[in-house]
Amino acid sequence: MSKPVVALVGRPNVGKSTLFNRIAQKRIAIVEDTPGVTRDRIYSTAEWLDHQFHIIDTGGIEIEAEDEILMQIKHQAELAIDEADVIIFVVDGKTGVTEADKEVANLLYRAKKPIVLAVNKIDNIKMQEEIYEFYSLGFGEPYPVSGVHMIGLGDLLDAVVSHFPPQEEEPKDEDVIRVALIGRPNVGKSSLVNAILGEERVIVSNVAGTTRDAIDTPFSTQNQDYILVDTAGMRKRGKVYETTEKYSVLRALKAIDDADVVLVVLDGHAGVIEQDKRIAGYAHEAGKASIFVVNKWDIVEKDDKTMTQFVKKIRDEFQFMAYAPIVFVSAKTKQRVQKILPIVDEVAEAHSMRVATSVLNDVIADAVVMTPPPSDKGKRLKVKYVTQVAVKPPTFVVFVNDKELMHFSYERYLENKLREAFGFEGTPIRLIVREKE
Ligand code: GDP
Ligand code: GDP
Repeated sequence: MSKPVVALVGRPNVGKSTLFNRIAQKRIAIVEDTPGVTRDRIYSTAEWLDHQFHIIDTGGIEIEAEDEILMQIKHQAELAIDEADVIIFVVDGKTGVTEADKEVANLLYRAKKPIVLAVNKIDNIKMQEEIYEFYSLGFGEPYPVSGVHMIGLGDLLDAVVSHFPPQEEEPKDEDVIRVALIGRPNVGKSSLVNAILGEERVIVSNVAGTTRDAIDTPFSTQNQDYILVDTAGMRKRGKVYETTEKYSVLRALKAIDDADVVLVVLDGHAGVIEQDKRIAGYAHEAGKASIFVVNKWDIVEKDDKTMTQFVKKIRDEFQFMAYAPIVFVSAKTKQRVQKILPIVDEVAEAHSMRVATSVLNDVIADAVVMTPPPSDKGKRLKVKYVTQVAVKPPTFVVFVNDKELMHFSYERYLENKLREAFGFEGTPIRLIVREKE
């Protein structure tokens, strides 16, 4: 199930991006540290109580060819109305109700989506009275908040999550592999889908199962059933923001949530850009299996070193995903397209692999003998035992004498030893360190 989407809507300068940054989860360091990745971040995951959700700052979505401010706001609001499960309508408590707020309100009246009104810049108790005039907007009780001073966010988020659709797990057929193709516009995702589905061995079911906002295509080979997760959502074709590159990120995030295996499609001709990293980083964080598919290889001028160079480039740019296999294809000439599904099968198997505790502990015991754990102030880390607690992705709990003594580099070492012993091709693995007497 993809996570609910919450959108921040409102005219410029009310404090949307400030609130976004307060609510959004910090990304993990490996992705964050890459220069350029954090700039103009407008999508993130967030968590409140037991709820995980996506959050969008629609103010960051500039719709091309729209220089008029009001048109921008209008399209941003439309996007939120289409895509969000809950909308946070942000207004400015210092300026009071403005004409532009009323315009936004007019659009939101027509939305059949829950709307929570946040009056921002209520920086202290004395300003509480400023919120009453916002009742006139017609969205019920206004929530006073201060993005800068982190006031009122808890109550606001309580209201937001109370509107989430019930989290009923869709029954999933464990034998089916759910595959998503992600990548920025024009890398050749649709062409690849057609090339894969057009292969002789592939049978496409004509009953398209539809989930909440994805259009899923079931298909099969002789050995395996798959579902192609496609959040493209035909219904949205033609909307102005369709052509907006940043908008495509949201689709990608939803598709990743719904997939087991993510094909990160890169354009072999155009190379790797920041957005590729951001999307791939999300697949990694979400614990999905991944494969790099370098498309348009037919139009790349090559010699005998070109492929090796491209591999090196991917390994440099996506250091956090060293586990992901790379395949060079052309959707146009179909070159190596038939290799994709067998690799999907392999990484899906690794993604759901379970290792017996005894075997696991033999491997860890050997690793600990080969490179003893670090010590600090005369105290040495002791790894007591390891057990696998989950699949998709494989997740291990490492019991130690003292958590403080476990360093990132030693975790990395243990992860590498697990990979050497069991493969885990294409899947992230997670280590959770726990203390045990
Ligand atoms: P956006 O255009 O809606 O995304 O607004 P920004 O988040 O960029 O904020 C616009 C301005 O309002 C900035 O100068 C912020 O520092 C300021 N601002 C945002 N939140 C608050 C707040 O809670 N209190 C005060 N006093 N200023 C705020
Ligand atoms: P999407 O936006 O990622 O779905 O990309 P499309 O599948 O619509 O492809 C974008 C453009 O790239 C189209 O003009 C395709 O014909 C072209 N294209 C896709 N795959 C290849 C390929 O392997 N080789 C070449 N030369 N062109 C391709």
